[in-house]
Amino acid sequence: MFEVSKAFAEEQDQKDILAPFREQFYFPQRNGKNATYFCGNSLGLQPKNVKAAIDQELYDWQQCAVEGYWGAKNPWLYYQQYCSRPLTEIVGAGQDELSVMNTLTVNLHLMMISFYRPTKQRFKVLMEAGAFPSDQYAVETQVKLHGLDPAEAIIEVSPRQGEHLIREEDIFRIIEEESSSLALILLGGINYYTGQLFNMQSITDVAHKAGALVGFDLAHVVGNVPVKLHDWKVDFAVWCSYKYLNGGPGAVGGAFVHEKHARNRNQQRLGGWWGNEEATRFKMEKGFEPKGRAEGWQLSTAQVFNMVALKASLELFESAGMAALRDKSIKLTNYLEFLLKQIENINFEIITPKNCKERGAQLSLLFHDRGKDIQQKMTEAGLIVDWREPGVIRISPAPLYNSYGDVFHFYEIIANIDSNA
Ligand SMILES: *Cc1c(COP(=O)(O)O)cnc(C)c1O
Repeated sequence: MFEVSKAFAEEQDQKDILAPFREQFYFPQRNGKNATYFCGNSLGLQPKNVKAAIDQELYDWQQCAVEGYWGAKNPWLYYQQYCSRPLTEIVGAGQDELSVMNTLTVNLHLMMISFYRPTKQRFKVLMEAGAFPSDQYAVETQVKLHGLDPAEAIIEVSPRQGEHLIREEDIFRIIEEESSSLALILLGGINYYTGQLFNMQSITDVAHKAGALVGFDLAHVVGNVPVKLHDWKVDFAVWCSYKYLNGGPGAVGGAFVHEKHARNRNQQRLGGWWGNEEATRFKMEKGFEPKGRAEGWQLSTAQVFNMVALKASLELFESAGMAALRDKSIKLTNYLEFLLKQIENINFEIITPKNCKERGAQLSLLFHDRGKDIQQKMTEAGLIVDWREPGVIRISPAPLYNSYGDVFHFYEIIANIDSNA
């Protein structure tokens, strides 16, 4: 159904109902032209509506000062809710299950403080081997915080010898084998290196049957693949907002706490005044009374300037709709895969799952040699893609702003790379 031709790509762009969103973004410049950007999985592009949104907050700060908390056009007291509301559709959660705060690793620590409560019997954490380093460090230091030895308390599930992807049956097998000692399963919903998307629903089911809690790192999932955290009964999840969500460098992150835990005011946690009930927050009294919802994990006053770009970007997600974005994403990534299979002049292997239900927008190309060199050649030709040690070029067409034309342009360039030069 796909064709290797520019005319075909152009025709798909004409039919694409999401095509107009491309005009809502700034593309980085190379030699006076828009670069072809496939790094939305690392840092999303700047939506054009961000500047006006920032100017609005600067103006309200200027004109209202402290009264901006309630008197700004978007009263600052409730700023995080301007972001958590559109996130409900993106992650499949009630607004009471969402808290927009801090950054991913901070939120992972806060969630582990609450949901990794090791006992003598149950103290192990299952995670993927080669998880993103920040997640590894977080888990290692949490385990040590409880006086445990990471070598005993952390179980890693790896791909089998000679394979690149983790088999779900291996995850299930470990959960069963360790069912009396597992406290927590913590996986990246999509592995950042291979692009493998896990079946979060069945992992959660199996883990719960074994008596363990389940958390997911959705850094590469949020805004990429729609999920249903509430219905799947996931215990908690965390994410950052600067990848597919286009919230800008260092943007505020997010956390999901399932309502079964979020309503429990006795759930152990680290507290701060912004997580306290609003009715008593400003009484400045002793005794922390957490909100009976995910916002009960908030610590500090709303970081307005760290949320404003996310708020602006989420307006675009709301008008595009997550289902339409996923539809286009599947087609766009399948087209990229189809074109990559025509390439003969350079040697690589696509290690991302072939089944579109087991991946999002990213394809990972594994190079056994000269990968860094090829990435350099791509960069010189105006393609922005990223390199991850030890051997992968990640390519991620984001459906909100990438086109079939971008994908074809990418193909034309790499099909002409002289791999011997
Ligand atoms: C991007 C990413 C992070 C980044 O964490 P920050 O705290 O936002 O710096 C963490 N984990 C994974 C899996 C990621 O992909």
